[in-house]
Amino acid sequence: MIRYSEYLMPTSKETPSDAEVVSHRLMLRAGLIRKVASGIYNYLPAGLRVLRKVERIIREEMDRAGAQEVLMPAVIPAELWKESGRWEAYGKELLRFRDRADREFCLGPTHEEVITDLVRREIHSYRQLPLNLYQIQDKFRDEIRPRFGLMRGREFFMKDAYSFDVDEESAAVTYRKMYDAYGRIFRRMGLEFRAVEADTGAIGGSSSHEFMVIADSGEDAVVSCERCEYSANVEKAECPPDGSERPSSPSPGTPRKVSTPGKRTIEEVSSFLGIAPGLLLKTLLFETDKGDVAVVLSGSHEVNETKVKNHLGADWVKLAGEERVRELTGAPSGYAGPVGLSVRVLADHSVRGIACGATGANEKDAHLVDVVPGRDFQPEAYADLRLVEEGDRCPRCPGPLRFSRGIEVGHVFRLGTKYSKSLSATYLDAGGKERMIVMGCYGIGVGRTAAAAIEQHHDPDGIQWPVSIAPFEVCVLPVTMKNAALVKEAERVAEDLSGKGIEVLFDDRDERPGIKFKDADLVGIPLRVTFGEKNYEAGYAEIRDRKKGETVRVGISAIADRVCAELDLKRKECAP
Ligand code: ATP
Ligand code: MG
Repeated sequence: MIRYSEYLMPTSKETPSDAEVVSHRLMLRAGLIRKVASGIYNYLPAGLRVLRKVERIIREEMDRAGAQEVLMPAVIPAELWKESGRWEAYGKELLRFRDRADREFCLGPTHEEVITDLVRREIHSYRQLPLNLYQIQDKFRDEIRPRFGLMRGREFFMKDAYSFDVDEESAAVTYRKMYDAYGRIFRRMGLEFRAVEADTGAIGGSSSHEFMVIADSGEDAVVSCERCEYSANVEKAECPPDGSERPSSPSPGTPRKVSTPGKRTIEEVSSFLGIAPGLLLKTLLFETDKGDVAVVLSGSHEVNETKVKNHLGADWVKLAGEERVRELTGAPSGYAGPVGLSVRVLADHSVRGIACGATGANEKDAHLVDVVPGRDFQPEAYADLRLVEEGDRCPRCPGPLRFSRGIEVGHVFRLGTKYSKSLSATYLDAGGKERMIVMGCYGIGVGRTAAAAIEQHHDPDGIQWPVSIAPFEVCVLPVTMKNAALVKEAERVAEDLSGKGIEVLFDDRDERPGIKFKDADLVGIPLRVTFGEKNYEAGYAEIRDRKKGETVRVGISAIADRVCAELDLKRKECAP
């Protein structure tokens, strides 16, 4: 049992001015965290209790899934990062420094290099695989914009797991196990989440999922089907052909050039020519490591650069600047079109729905009308290259897609042989042949998850912790410290509960009842047992449910049993 009078939980009524999201405000106001520097925090006792509970749930489920806990250093020698190629590629988020002997190091933002180095030294045979190792450790990322408190810090706790398998098939089984473990973890924390398909970049396949806690303050847009389980992030969400493709027997004829002085944007051209935006063949030029490419799509859609990049198998793509557009089309930007263009042309599926459209004439102040795709220009391929839109049809069923906001709390990723190749982590198979180890990596942000829980569970009075991650389960609150008999009885009940293994905060501060009630609500303790003077004289106390806002009057001798029963119900709400 913790006595509040001796406990460092400095609550405050003031709304901190620099905290934009509710979880950040409430963590500060409830005395859970204090800022040391941008994105760097002290965790106060009650805040640390929450984080430890989050960690405990993660640990239990990682262990259950067969992963083994290790602990790697925060300080990593540069050589390992140079070997993987990430010393150059990672950019400014990687905090680099030198020791007294002028050797280069970094603070680990993630640990693929260190773990792969360990595994290549210790694992030699297929008999030692599969292997899954995890740690819960302090990470450092020099984020451009640290914000929202623990949501996007620079120094933060992360659970990172890394799996090692003999082949892709076995790696898929491991991936599924971790995916399932993640579901259990977030359900046990009482969170409403979606596992969304995420882009895997060069590695390919649908082998990455982000676990998103649904919350309006989320930084990520999540696309989900209203009818089925399909969920994806915006970059990844598929836009298959919608069935409006035309038959491929285009009419004879040629496009007609029209004058469009100063009309460059879709809106301007559309209203000037009196042609719906959906019938404009919007043409965007990209520079890429695979050369220049023109992407054509219906004017009512937006291009998805990630899809363009993946379609090309490119490392990078970027929209061509004004000057490059002039070189490639002979016209200022706003007048590009695929007819007669001498760069590769890719068309989005939406182009197939345009029997006869309008597009730029690759000439200043001119557009072409009566343009027929397939007749007047021949795209190298029709592909899914656009951004999903709300109301689009689900790629898996006829249901409509909806957008919501999400906080990415976890990420599971099949890495293939990316790191085993660059760091040469191999094993000998049953036939004595040397093979690459197939890897996966799996992260969860500990502090971010706690913050996300607050985003989902709060009201104007404060936090409403799910019982599994609350700093305390019960607050026992005598309304006055002046009535010795009442205080003694309240203390006896608090000790009784504590003896039953329940985590009790005993609010023995000599404060007005209003202040004590407000603090219990602010800190978000799921149950409060109040000893008021009148009730006490009559042999009663009150149990208040923080989330439901309901109060029941219970005989003092029955309090402990009733609290245990209520907590059991709450624990069931956090069942895996
Ligand atoms: P984001 O897109 O939000 O920057 P990320 O893709 O960089 O996340 P990962 O590298 O997959 O994140 O890290 C694994 C997990 O670590 C994330 O799912 C998130 O919960 C947590 N995390 C990442 N960056 C931060 C941060 N700056 N502060 C707190 N938690 C973080
Ligand atoms: Mg990041």
